[in-house]
Amino acid sequence: MTGNCHDLKHRYTFGDFLYWNLMAAVPLLTAGAAIAAASTFWLGAYLLVVLACILALYRFFCSHCPHYARDEKTVKCLFMWGVPKFFEPRKAPLKWHEKGLSLLAGLVLTLFPLYWLLDHPGQLMVYVIAVTVVGLTLRRTECSRCIYVDCPANRVPAERQAGAGAPGQTVE
Ligand code: SF4
Repeated sequence: MTGNCHDLKHRYTFGDFLYWNLMAAVPLLTAGAAIAAASTFWLGAYLLVVLACILALYRFFCSHCPHYARDEKTVKCLFMWGVPKFFEPRKAPLKWHEKGLSLLAGLVLTLFPLYWLLDHPGQLMVYVIAVTVVGLTLRRTECSRCIYVDCPANRVPAERQAGAGAPGQTVE
């Protein structure tokens, strides 16, 4: 990868969205299957927890993202495609409580199924490997070219961030 702003990923394609959602589906379906084997009630609770965590991330984290701020009615990025903007785009950098709540939502999303997965060592192994692969692949392939420079995980060097725009802004 060369070091100029043209390496930054300003637009995702529908193929990118499909790829990342298929990646994320592996740990989600593995966890759902382990919970469903124990209780339909807790499967319903898990689905509600997943929805609540995604909504919290959408409000506190995504609303500051340049992909969210784009002058379009819906959000299109690696994880969302055609999702309405339920919240106002926020042009200011992430506040400390927004970072904290986003981290908490991510932790709850990841740790909640462990109680049920511990009874299924095979599924637990698949879950841990799948979560690790999603995290490492995001870090290796996306964080170093991401235009959301205010994200704490962003790895774009400072000299290349000029091409990414300020929080809540897009540079085409
Ligand atoms: S790219 Fe932006 S809008 Fe899409 S999931 Fe990530 S933070 Fe949210």
